[in-house]
Amino acid sequence: MRFNSVIVTAKLEKEGERYNLNFKIHDDKYSFGSCPKCGKKVIVNRAAYTCEDKECNFCIFKNDKFLARYGKKTTDSMIRKLLKDGQVKVGGLKSPNGKGKFEAILKLKENGKYWGWEMEFENKTSVEDSSSSNNNSIVGKCLECGSDVYENSKAFSCSNDKCKFVLFKNDFFFKNFNKKLTKTLVKEFLENKKAKVTGLYSQKKNKKFDANVVLKKQGDYWNFNFENNG
Ligand SMILES: [Zn+2]
Ligand SMILES: [Zn+2]
Repeated sequence: MRFNSVIVTAKLEKEGERYNLNFKIHDDKYSFGSCPKCGKKVIVNRAAYTCEDKECNFCIFKNDKFLARYGKKTTDSMIRKLLKDGQVKVGGLKSPNGKGKFEAILKLKENGKYWGWEMEFENKTSVEDSSSSNNNSIVGKCLECGSDVYENSKAFSCSNDKCKFVLFKNDFFFKNFNKKLTKTLVKEFLENKKAKVTGLYSQKKNKKFDANVVLKKQGDYWNFNFENNG
């Protein structure tokens, strides 16, 4: 018999009239963290990650149905991170409509008798998203292929892996006029390839102005320009 590194604590405990030496085996390989419900140890069995306390309802199946919808399975590292940080960022989630992949933050949530998942997107807290619901990271339809365009921390990009459509938040044109490319603007550009942009700042004239801006494909890229610039 061979042991891999296993930590054992021995405790001298009084049982009735006599003392017994009780051993407890801590095998970190099989402890995933603290149960979000009761704080006891989360262990794994063939089908699921559960609480060591049988009275506790914490349980996440390896073949979780929610994750399966997005082409994912629960993994050890996912569970470890969830129990440690309360959330885990998961990439490569397949969008349910079969088009493209996306990234989301997953959290565990107790839902009545069972434990389930909550999906959040990184940009959820951005001011302009406050009115939207679940699909809050979909900005519109891609001008190249018609797939959903998602917002991420750096850009608005097409969810289709094969499509290169992307609009960067630090877009040169907007940066030049001290203006941020916001979700509201991108929404409008995706619909009309054109938007009225207010509060552009001209360094030359040291004043703000409004202008109609168009989104046009030039070569491989989509660029912004003033409407009357042709
Ligand atoms: Zn528990
Ligand atoms: Zn596209």
